[in-house]
Amino acid sequence: MKAAPAVQRTLLDLAEIDIELNRVAHRRGSLPELTEITGIEAEAATSRDAVTAAATVLADLRRDADRLEKEVDQVRARGKRDEDLLKGGNVSARQVADLEHELESVRRRQALLEDELLELMERIEAAETQVSVAEGELAEVRQRLGDAERRRDEALADLGTVETRRTEAREAVVGSVPEGLLALYERLRAQKGTGAALLRARRCGACRLELDRTALSELRKAAPDDVVRCEECGVILVRTGESGL
Ligand SMILES: [Zn+2]
Repeated sequence: MKAAPAVQRTLLDLAEIDIELNRVAHRRGSLPELTEITGIEAEAATSRDAVTAAATVLADLRRDADRLEKEVDQVRARGKRDEDLLKGGNVSARQVADLEHELESVRRRQALLEDELLELMERIEAAETQVSVAEGELAEVRQRLGDAERRRDEALADLGTVETRRTEAREAVVGSVPEGLLALYERLRAQKGTGAALLRARRCGACRLELDRTALSELRKAAPDDVVRCEECGVILVRTGESGL
C-alpha cells in the first residue's frame, strides 16, 4: 500500500486521539465513585431495614398500649359504678359488704394495669427514640449517596465533554486519510488496540521493541510513500526524522 508521508503522519494524530478515547471509555467504567455508590447503596438497604424494624416494634407497643388503656377504662368504669351504688345508699348491708369487697379488688386490678401502662409508655418512648435514630442514620446515608452520585455524574459529564471534543477532532483527521489506509488502520486497531505508531529511534511506538538489523535494512529500502508495518506487532509504522533510519 502507498500513501504520502504527510498522510501517513496524520495516522499518528488519529492514533493519539484513539488512545484518549480508549482512556475515556476505560475511565468511565472504572470511576471510583461507582464502587463507592455500590457500597453506600448496601449501607442504605441496611439502614432502611433498621428503620422498618424499629417502626414495627413501635407500632406493636402502641397497639398493646391502646388495648391496655381500654382495659384500664373498663376497670375504672366498674369502680365508678360500685362507688355510685355505695353512695346511693339504696343497698342492703350484705350488698354493701359485697360491693366494698369488689371495689377493693377492682382498685387493685386498676393499679396493676396502670403500672403496666406506665411501663409500656416508657418502652414506647425508647422505641420512638430508636426510630428517630434509625431515620437519622438513613438520612445521613442517603445524603452521602446523593453526594457520590453527584460526583459520579460530574465525572461522567467531564468525560462526555472530552469524548465529544475528541470525536470531533477524529472526524476531521479521518477526512484526510484515504479510504484504503483508513480501513487498514481500523482493522489493526480492532485487532491490536492500536492501528499506527511512530518509529522512534528504531523502536516501534506500539510494542516498544527495537527493530532488528534485517527489518531496519528492509525499511531503509522502502520508498517514503510505502506503508510499512512492525514485524513484531503488525501496526503501521510511521517514519519521521526521529526514526533513526
Ligand atoms: Zn510493534
